[in-house]
Amino acid sequence: MICKYRPGADGKHNSDGSRKSSRRIRTRKISSDSMKPFQCQKCGRGFTLKRNKDRHVNYECGHEPRFQCPYCGLRSKQTSPVYAHIRKKHPEEEVFIFDMKL
Ligand SMILES: [Zn+2]
Ligand SMILES: [Zn+2]
Repeated sequence: MICKYRPGADGKHNSDGSRKSSRRIRTRKISSDSMKPFQCQKCGRGFTLKRNKDRHVNYECGHEPRFQCPYCGLRSKQTSPVYAHIRKKHPEEEVFIFDMKL
């Protein structure tokens, strides 16, 4: 008596292929851009809100970091990292930043 045993073929898997409605469509990463209708023309970054895109284009994209640590020259596009940097790296110094208005 020969008893064939195939693991995984114990009847739980319905492989008759009669139902194709449950076929899934794979979503690519690109699909996330459809959620962000406003895109930067320079770097392609997507934004959900127009004002966020405008802020990016006006203050971030293609611009040098505007805010600078007066003690070592570290630069950032935002003030808070520079403030945090000064408190951490230059605890003896007064906390202020250079604003190189571009
Ligand atoms: Zn950009
Ligand atoms: Zn510094």
